Amino acid sequence: MTDPTDAVRDRVLSLTSDELPAYVYDLAALRAHAATVRASLPERVELYYAAKANPEPEILAALGPYVDGYEVASGGELAHVAKAVPGRPLAFGGPGKTPAEIVAALELGVERFHLESEYELHVLAELARQVAPDGRVGVLPRFNLPVTSASLAASALAMGGRPSPFGMDPAQADTVMGLLTDGTYPHLEFKGVHAHLASGLRAPEQLAMAESIVDWAVRLAERHGVRPAEVNVGGGMTVDYAAPDERFDWSVYGVGLAQLLSRHPALTLRIEPGRALTAYCGWYATEVLDVKRSHGEEFAVVRGGTHHLRTPATKGHDQPCTLLRVEGWPHPWARPVARGELVTLTGQLCTPKDVLARNVPASALRAGDRVAFGLAGAYAWNISHHDFLMHPRPGFHFLGAPA
Ligand SMILES: *Cc1c(COP(=O)(O)O)cnc(C)c1O
Repeated sequence: MTDPTDAVRDRVLSLTSDELPAYVYDLAALRAHAATVRASLPERVELYYAAKANPEPEILAALGPYVDGYEVASGGELAHVAKAVPGRPLAFGGPGKTPAEIVAALELGVERFHLESEYELHVLAELARQVAPDGRVGVLPRFNLPVTSASLAASALAMGGRPSPFGMDPAQADTVMGLLTDGTYPHLEFKGVHAHLASGLRAPEQLAMAESIVDWAVRLAERHGVRPAEVNVGGGMTVDYAAPDERFDWSVYGVGLAQLLSRHPALTLRIEPGRALTAYCGWYATEVLDVKRSHGEEFAVVRGGTHHLRTPATKGHDQPCTLLRVEGWPHPWARPVARGELVTLTGQLCTPKDVLARNVPASALRAGDRVAFGLAGAYAWNISHHDFLMHPRPGFHFLGAPA
């Protein structure tokens, strides 16, 4: 369901017009969801949260009891997450790490580096020698593995199995493994392999992908006389914006991972979902400012728009939403009302791309009614172009924080 929880609905209806739009998060719902995810994962599966999905400090903290660590993909995320949830294990990934970012990560004692290229390996090795001469830094080279299954290749955001700037080409694997196992770089410790190949996958596809990554990683390591202690199979668990009730099946996934691990008794698996952890706990709430008809179609212009909630514009979907009717109308002028059954909800930006949801069943929708867009807890505010047109920023409300 993308309907707002009772707490969110009450808050949205209690805000004044000037306090909208607002992002309203239900942290109790987030904790309950994260607990379910955690409970469905077998032993030897570590859960890291990919901070880029939503790095709000309240979200990072609420996830704390249910995750084993956090995946960060920039120096900015690194500093931010280290401050928001101090002392928690971090994995540092992402392409184009700068020397300054690597030094910052080494100084913070980051546990794991996901290496994006052979060049990055050389840089990290030298900086580790300088910054942490007495220690060994855990590394997992990231590989862009061939993607065999057709459904995988078709997935919305496949970033593996085809030319991409992410990770290393499998053709480089033996060179890199050689450098990591032949004593060239004593300050680096080969932990295993990382792969994040696609997003938008359902549990059976994720399992097939995890299996092929593990098999590949084990064979690679064996050729160099070692075993991977761990394999990180990435994130990308689906959130279906068109069918929000069809959530990723964590119990099927957990059972499948347990079977996979039973064939690899010494292996730890790590997953790093972002979207599927936090999308469901956030709503972008606003009110209808104007209703009009244009060439036979009905439009409602809401306060705010895709400069706050870019997700539907980037992904090309209709953001699921719930209409909250408001009876009172405080103004002396007449209240505009939709005459048709279907209404397209747009924002305040002067661009035809500012569409939040098309053809929403919303008969008799009026100015002053409120709308809560669901699935707005991930890749929403933080991916949006806030300053375009200089409208005010939304409010932020975190409900259900522990007392
Ligand atoms: C973005 C990203 C994730 C998280 O992906 P989701 O689709 O949000 O689960 C995990 N790992 C890496 C390397 C990423 O780039």
